Amino acid sequence: MQNVDVAIIGGGISGLTAANYLAKAGLSVLLIEKSNRLGGRARTVKKNGVFFNLGLHAFYQDGEGERVLRELDIPLSGGNPPAKAVAVWRNKMFPVPTGPLQLLSSKLLTLSGKIELARFMAKIGKIESARIGSISLQDWAEREIRDPIIRHLVYAICRTNSYVPYPDLQPAGPSVRQLQRTFSGKAMYVDKGWGSIVDSLQERATRTGVTILSNKRVIEIEHDEKVRHIRFDNGDRVAVPFVIASVEPEEISRLVKRGGSATISQWVNRTRPINVACLDIALRKLPKLSPDYAVAFWIDQPLFYSNQSSAAKMSEDGSIVVSLAKYLGSEPGDWKQDKWQLERAMDVLQPGWQNEVVARQFLPRMTAIHDFISIDKNGTFVGPAVPEIKGLYVTGDWTGRGEMLVDAALASAKRAAMQVVKEFDKLKKRGEVPSGDRGVVHDV
Ligand SMILES: Cc1cc2nc3c(=O)[nH]c(=O)nc-3n(C[C@H](O)[C@H](O)[C@H](O)COP(=O)(O)OP(=O)(O)OC[C@H]3O[C@@H](n4cnc5c(N)ncnc54)[C@H](O)[C@@H]3O)c2cc1C
Repeated sequence: MQNVDVAIIGGGISGLTAANYLAKAGLSVLLIEKSNRLGGRARTVKKNGVFFNLGLHAFYQDGEGERVLRELDIPLSGGNPPAKAVAVWRNKMFPVPTGPLQLLSSKLLTLSGKIELARFMAKIGKIESARIGSISLQDWAEREIRDPIIRHLVYAICRTNSYVPYPDLQPAGPSVRQLQRTFSGKAMYVDKGWGSIVDSLQERATRTGVTILSNKRVIEIEHDEKVRHIRFDNGDRVAVPFVIASVEPEEISRLVKRGGSATISQWVNRTRPINVACLDIALRKLPKLSPDYAVAFWIDQPLFYSNQSSAAKMSEDGSIVVSLAKYLGSEPGDWKQDKWQLERAMDVLQPGWQNEVVARQFLPRMTAIHDFISIDKNGTFVGPAVPEIKGLYVTGDWTGRGEMLVDAALASAKRAAMQVVKEFDKLKKRGEVPSGDRGVVHDV
């Protein structure tokens, strides 16, 4: 039995992060996860001694996400893949020139293209991304890059490092910043997958007193103008003054059903989920493309390949884990066609791969992010507080303030937790957190 100051709905990486910040501040925290394992989309599945993330996952260092994990003393071990890459065009592989010698011998570009790429690479790191202004990635690329192959290569890299295949909607500033992180080798593959980050967050949360309930689904956040209770699928209720909802926007809308919230409805209407079809394969050996080439970008199809084992320990027995992704954008995809296309893509890079398979998983439609930064949102952001319902906060990759992907999930978790701590202190000073107002966890 214990009092509950804050309930967190959702045991993904964002909910776990919020739980850690709140426990660090001395609040009593109840975290509820509907499935039997924590981690959500950052889970890692172990199959035949192989660690499969749910689709390709690269952690971009030097951003908000890494700062949050360091602040919580969560270790990050892994490595950065080698810089060599291939571009695939019309089902043929071309090494992407990364040095002067490769540039000279490249068959991908014309002479003027080679000169332009050399200039672009020399200039990209020096661009002040924050000063680019509110134009789209496409408008910026058309202004800055004449050669269509280089432009499409830039789109392919930006699609890979954001999951968003819409250069006409993506703002140039954040895209260039992410491009700079990619070119300066900040993409990191994590040893034993992102599940290792989840495990560390869970272990720290448990150690600092967070109560974790898995296999429990919250079906309602009961409220009037304030949060009052959360209700579980078995009918149990817990009284609680603060709730952090670390779940997708539609789920939050369902949870606040009675009375609803105009703001949450607006948030649901403005979000544009970004989907991806993933094929993860563990191989005994690589039949053709050497591990020196850790990634492949398709110029004429929305596809990507990466060898996560090139930089991280992804198996117990040395099997090599490669991942392929098809970027679906906001479309649902056609799983048979997508699977076929990903397997054919693998045929181009690693012919004969089918004979080397140790384990594989195909995930037909994963929502990589529930929303992305787009120029038509005019710099407006979501959350963390829900204005009409005091005590309710939201976190996740759709509630960033300019951060992308997991950076947004982690940074928003910290923002929400810090706001709760502030509000909780105010209530405490006013003597408004009597024990009767706080939940008692038992039998749930
Ligand atoms: C295929 C793929 C590739 C990705 N690649 C990258 C990458 O390379 N780099 C990067 O930075 N990011 C990447 N991401 C994004 C990153 O994984 C997510 O941003 C992050 O994991 C989101 O965490 P979250 O906690 O916000 O949400 P989730 O992981 O979705 O967690 C929400 C949790 O809430 C639970 N839940 C939902 N409803 C309820 C309820 N009613 N009651 C109780 N529990 C509930 C769910 O079961 C889930 O565990 C990728 C995502 C995917 C899917």
